[in-house]
Amino acid sequence: MDDVRDDSVRDDLESERDRLRKQVEELAADSDEGLSFDGGHADSGQVAAERGEFTSLANSLREQLDDVEAALTALDEGRYGLCEVCGQAIAEARLEAMPATRRCIDHA
Ligand SMILES: [Zn+2]
Repeated sequence: MDDVRDDSVRDDLESERDRLRKQVEELAADSDEGLSFDGGHADSGQVAAERGEFTSLANSLREQLDDVEAALTALDEGRYGLCEVCGQAIAEARLEAMPATRRCIDHA
């Protein structure tokens, strides 16, 4: 793996990480605001449903963020692009489509 490619992957992953972090923060802010604002007014079923949506969205963002951070760590440690299950190199096309993927196509 050459350095030029490493650098561009790192740039992509870092901007993706920043974007995800911002989304998580914004979501947390919205969630706090929404819950205190609705407190005592909206019926509890609606509040629970909204809270559920926030939670699943927040979880999905955190999972993506975890993947991106793991990929950056892997880059630092020189094992980026290796499947975490079988240790084989992940196909180039797959990495291009999903730079933060941790698994090869066989173990996706
Ligand atoms: Zn694999």
